[in-house]
Amino acid sequence: MLVLVINSGSSSLKYQVRDVAAGSVLTEGLIEKIGMGNGGDGDGEIEGPRDHAEALEQVDAAIHQELGDLELAAVGHRVVHGGERFAEPVLIDNEITRAIERLNPLAPLHNPANVLGIRAITKKWPDMPQVAVFDTAFHRTLPEHAWRYAVPDELYTNHGIRRYGFHGTSHEYVTRRAAALLDLRVEEFDGVIAHLGNGASVTAIRGGHSVDTSMGFTPLEGLVMGTRSGDLDPSILVFLGRAGWTPEDIDTMLNRESGLKGLAGNNDMRSVVEASEAGDAKAATALGVTSYRLAKYIGGYHVAVGGAKALVFTAGIGENSHQFRALVAEKLGALGIELDAGLNAERSKEPRVISTPQSAIPVLVVPTDEERAIAEATAAVVGSGPAR
Ligand code: ADP
Repeated sequence: MLVLVINSGSSSLKYQVRDVAAGSVLTEGLIEKIGMGNGGDGDGEIEGPRDHAEALEQVDAAIHQELGDLELAAVGHRVVHGGERFAEPVLIDNEITRAIERLNPLAPLHNPANVLGIRAITKKWPDMPQVAVFDTAFHRTLPEHAWRYAVPDELYTNHGIRRYGFHGTSHEYVTRRAAALLDLRVEEFDGVIAHLGNGASVTAIRGGHSVDTSMGFTPLEGLVMGTRSGDLDPSILVFLGRAGWTPEDIDTMLNRESGLKGLAGNNDMRSVVEASEAGDAKAATALGVTSYRLAKYIGGYHVAVGGAKALVFTAGIGENSHQFRALVAEKLGALGIELDAGLNAERSKEPRVISTPQSAIPVLVVPTDEERAIAEATAAVVGSGPAR
């Protein structure tokens, strides 16, 4: 069964064709500068498709050039916000598309772009089954004490202001793989998953379900990230507003100029680690703040899950930066966590244990694969995929 996985952004469209049964990628690509170009038929400098429909034509052409004639069974879309309604992947119809669109105010940069991708497919292949896989869905099991903000109730009831959580597709996939690595059924898995990429979040898993997660109303809350601040005192925003900053200024500062970039001048973990090792004090501070914040969350989530049975690292930094993992682990001595320096430093694409036998709980590195998870979920929804 072949599934086309689409991650549609406002000006880009990422795609993969996956063979679900084999778990393999047949082809993949990225169309950029959507809506910025002239469709390639003028003499403007910028080339790019006029809209998502034209981008999809390019995807179709690229897939056929690469793979010849093939029959896609379904399209799976990464959709960022599923609000309170969507706890599972769903088969898309017009009503579902409109429901995703109604969530636009909660994810103004992402959901409108996801809907453009869905509508482009609907127009081109009206009979193609399409499935929406939501970044928020896995966190629909959060108990109310974890998703409530302590603000007047009307902010929730009138504006939907609550904690939703993100990266759910990754957290769920990594939970299943981590449980398998430990020979546990997923319902038996209590642990903490740290998804550390440009965006980063940590999730508390109890009985295989998400019971707390560090991202909240938006993907800004929680950990220190590549360019995002994570948690801070909200009064800072009031202070800046009074000092004349506009909402856009504040949004840009918190989402694009903060995090590692704000502290160290660079949002790439590799560069920050290298700079710190070369004696750069700002880079060392950035690593200290970032690893300390994560360690505090891990300690809190150890409590939230009633005693974690494992700590799991995933995504670009979690999978690749042994230095960052070591910085976090050294702050977790109170939990009895002890990394094996040799295992931690090994490079591998396989899920693996990196702690010593004496460590109170195993520490794992489990590569994530959101596209694979989306393809499998899509196949399961349209009926012939592996049971999940
Ligand atoms: P995104 O959230 O954009 O999917 P990724 O999961 O690709 O992000 O993670 C990007 C981060 O991973 C960057 O900070 C990058 O420096 C870091 N990273 C990637 N490869 C390595 C590596 N070999 N060593 C250390 N950090 C790495």
